[in-house]
Amino acid sequence: MSVASRSSFGLGCHLSRFACRSTRGFGGFPMLTTSRSVSYLGELPEEHRMLQKTCRDFAEGELKPIAAELDKLHKFPAEQVKKMGEMGLFSIEVPAEKGGTGLDALAYAIAMEEISRGCASAGVVMSAHNSLYLAPICKFGSEEQWERYGLPFLDANKIGCFALSEPGNGSDAGAASTVASSVASGLSIGKKEDKLGIRASSTATLTFEDAAVPSANLLGEPGMGFKIAMTTLDGGRIGVAGQALGIGQASIDCAVDYASKREAFGSPIMKMQAIQSKLADMELRVHSARLLTYQAAMLKTQNKPFTKEAAMAKLAASEAATFAAHQAIQILGGMGYVTDMPAERHYRDARITEIYEGTSEIQPLPLLNSSRSVSFLGELPEEHRMLQKTCRDFAEGELKPIAAELDKLHKFPAEQVKKMGQMGLFSVEIPSEKGGAGLDTLAYAIAVEEISRGCASTGVIMSVNNSLYLGPLYKFCTDEQWERYGLPFLNGDKIGCFALSEPGNGSDAGAASTVASSVASGYKLNGSKAWITNSWEASAGVVFATTDKSKKHKGISAFLFDMPTPGLSLGKKEDKLGIRASSTATLTFEDAVVPATNLLGEPGMGFKIAMSTLDGGRIGIAAQALGIGQAAIDCAVDYASKREAFGSPIMKMQAIQSKLADMELRVHSARLLTYEAAVLKTKKKPFIKEAAMAKLAASEAATFAAHQAIQILGGMGYVTDMPAERHYRDARITEIYEGTSEIQRLVIANNLLKEHGVL
Ligand SMILES: Cc1cc2nc3c(=O)[nH]c(=O)nc-3n(C[C@H](O)[C@H](O)[C@H](O)COP(=O)(O)OP(=O)(O)OC[C@H]3O[C@@H](n4cnc5c(N)ncnc54)[C@H](O)[C@@H]3O)c2cc1C
Repeated sequence: MSVASRSSFGLGCHLSRFACRSTRGFGGFPMLTTSRSVSYLGELPEEHRMLQKTCRDFAEGELKPIAAELDKLHKFPAEQVKKMGEMGLFSIEVPAEKGGTGLDALAYAIAMEEISRGCASAGVVMSAHNSLYLAPICKFGSEEQWERYGLPFLDANKIGCFALSEPGNGSDAGAASTVASSVASGLSIGKKEDKLGIRASSTATLTFEDAAVPSANLLGEPGMGFKIAMTTLDGGRIGVAGQALGIGQASIDCAVDYASKREAFGSPIMKMQAIQSKLADMELRVHSARLLTYQAAMLKTQNKPFTKEAAMAKLAASEAATFAAHQAIQILGGMGYVTDMPAERHYRDARITEIYEGTSEIQPLPLLNSSRSVSFLGELPEEHRMLQKTCRDFAEGELKPIAAELDKLHKFPAEQVKKMGQMGLFSVEIPSEKGGAGLDTLAYAIAVEEISRGCASTGVIMSVNNSLYLGPLYKFCTDEQWERYGLPFLNGDKIGCFALSEPGNGSDAGAASTVASSVASGYKLNGSKAWITNSWEASAGVVFATTDKSKKHKGISAFLFDMPTPGLSLGKKEDKLGIRASSTATLTFEDAVVPATNLLGEPGMGFKIAMSTLDGGRIGIAAQALGIGQAAIDCAVDYASKREAFGSPIMKMQAIQSKLADMELRVHSARLLTYEAAVLKTKKKPFIKEAAMAKLAASEAATFAAHQAIQILGGMGYVTDMPAERHYRDARITEIYEGTSEIQRLVIANNLLKEHGVL
């Protein structure tokens, strides 16, 4: 770092310049409006992006190079703290009229992540000062108190601390034994604790022995201390979540860098699937925790309840950080275990984030005590909320009551499909001028979740028609094709299917062995397509077949076909573990001829059509999984509130609460990933990695939630009288179709490596 570039982090770079760019809202910063509350997914507002870059450059240039040395010497980063103070990082959320930087909680979370990515100790120095010291004084202090204990602390010339925990109690803060009497002198500071990590920040015991403070120093009213401490910690959790994200991200950076350079068995280890899987899981966990953190921060800024969201953010981010740091050491092997590389420091630093400002065991409690429902209501744009309610009401009234029966009889919900078609649910994303519902991908994801919450089979019937059949048709068809194969399929009168998988290959779709040969009347198809959803009810489909074998996957073309067609036979309905109300069968083509006008797109475009269809389709399956996971939560919460054991409802037991909290956390964070992928797709931004993360997280959240629901219901979970056993069976498919979890991990890792510029 040159002296010249160092000096650019002076007063001229104060973060409040970002606040000054806007004209309205808290502290001169724009209030994040409803529509922006979704649009931040995948793309931060410009001011936040600029702030992120400033903090990232500072961390990269000034903190990362010295972090190991600070850690080794247990040395407070005095010079860097001063610079950070000058930049406004020590009073981020203090309003500009009170002398602070005047940014919002999202800005604070972003700054915390970036600073901690460079040095986790600097992160906690900053967060203890911002959220634990200044925040309660700003909120509860008098003008005189602010004059004396606020103003001199804004630019880090002085820094503050927060003394709540005691030797005899930590989580149980209400049991504080330190006494304040109205008479008054001695405060002593204990030795600097020798810690596992965050060693450049000091930690010590403060002992008050007849220590006198003036009565003007009482913060708030007598007896308000516990409330002040708890509200402070709610906000503080966003800061610690930000710190954990920074440590997790630093672990990913270091692992990707090493994996791209280290060779084993003749190739860089990043080419190995075992390493790619690890990287994908690290990225998924850190990124989903990031979305939870952003959500909590946005709710705080909007003065909405955020206790549950902050608890979820802290819980997810801290566990993501310890997970990512653990995996980083594994990827680095022996080099991960020595202090020459930062992985071992990240591993030590990460561990604290599961402990301070409420342990992981404590986080579930505010989460469940929150009176708010699980749903995203209140944060989604109004049209999406209305759609959600409409679909929820339909699912509750028309699907949930018959889902068990449909499952038992393997019966297609014909009447309900018709009604859903009339509601526009079979052509959600088709523009209205083309006869569809004209909604966006977020609307589609919300609708599939709600429908699947009522009946997962109906969810997949809907998703195949929307994403797999109409999706590629709309994108690649001619006007005549739309007339014949599009219009009659928009309102549930006719439904379509998608025939890509074969008995001999599923994941490896490029190896399609079905052949289409050119004949005078069009194309003659020969081959079998396996596992085709909706095949028993479909009136048409898209099939993929090789027109030029020598070109391998580039020789695959896509065709529209009618059902029935001479030469096409429909196999038996597969007897499946779950989603039994949807049909699955093999389609066998034996000299089945389709007219030349049924070629979709150009010859040889089939593989591209299939892959781009599946990218979008994954959002639908992620949403289906969310619906199943949410239904499992609904059923578990309902049962836990009614079932008594040992004299009280089982929902009062911590073991049950922990399960519910983990179910909620996993389903909700997968929901944010799904929304993010949907928003990116609508904005025509790259969304492949995000859709893969959404599908992977949502499907695994659904199987997890359904598994736990059975556990909470005990024996009742295992019988068909209750829906938990159906959710358990239905959930399992979401980890398989439209790309298995193994394939999603490869997609994520490939995109991650590309983003880091090493692939
Ligand atoms: C109920 C149901 C409905 C379906 N609906 C449709 C439909 O409508 N249309 C359609 O075309 N298909 C459909 N499918 C097929 C589905 O998409 C495939 O089953 C899925 O893609 C997996 O393919 P496979 O079963 O051949 O497994 P395989 O590809 O044989 O995989 C077997 C195992 O190997 C792993 N594996 C394979 N390749 C790799 C790799 N490169 N790296 C690491 N691991 C790997 C897989 O993850 C899996 O664990 C459906 C399947 C089911 C069960």
